[in-house]
Amino acid sequence: MRLTTIKLAGFKSFVDPTTLHLPTNMTGVVGPNGCGKSNIIDAIRWVMGESAASRLRGDALTDVIFSGSNGRKPVGSAMVELLFDNSDGLIVGEYANYNEISVKRVVSRDGQSQYFLNGVRCRRRDITDLFLGTGLGPRSYSIIEQGMISEIVEADPEQLRNHLEEAAGISKYKERRKETESR
Ligand code: ATP
Ligand code: MG
Repeated sequence: MRLTTIKLAGFKSFVDPTTLHLPTNMTGVVGPNGCGKSNIIDAIRWVMGESAASRLRGDALTDVIFSGSNGRKPVGSAMVELLFDNSDGLIVGEYANYNEISVKRVVSRDGQSQYFLNGVRCRRRDITDLFLGTGLGPRSYSIIEQGMISEIVEADPEQLRNHLEEAAGISKYKERRKETESR
């Protein structure tokens, strides 16, 4: 599974509709301070279901919406869409047969968040479920931020086990068991 395209509109500094193509396995993002490099990573984490504003370097969840700049008015909503190439079939279950998977999130100023899977409205849970066990997710090890290496080095056994279980693909089943037990 590979992330091939990132589409943004109204998200942080990406006010105009923007499409970023990631044609190969390695892509570098370069640019001066404050040009929006980290905003791209925030966008990926946000669309995967991150719900803590602090993890997106904001105070409120609506802080991801373009808040205006010199000569540019704020906008009413933010949208991010990720396209994944799933031709290797890493995504299992209902979406296994799709060669391309689209995950989209939209938020408006009233704080309403909407999620879409291949264009169909879904719950946040459907998105987190889909990626559980693939290593991709809002807080997964596929995004290594500043400070995270030392976080892992200093992690207590419980936190460390969570990372290992995600890498081994066990977390999906543990999550299901927890749910069943709480019913
Ligand atoms: P550095 O090299 O310093 O890490 P960077 O390229 O990672 O910089 P970002 O942190 O991605 O930069 O972008 C910061 C910019 O995004 C700032 O100019 C900030 O004003 C702008 N920004 C963040 N949130 C919003 C928002 N909601 N509306 C408008 N602009 C925003
Ligand atoms: Mg940065």
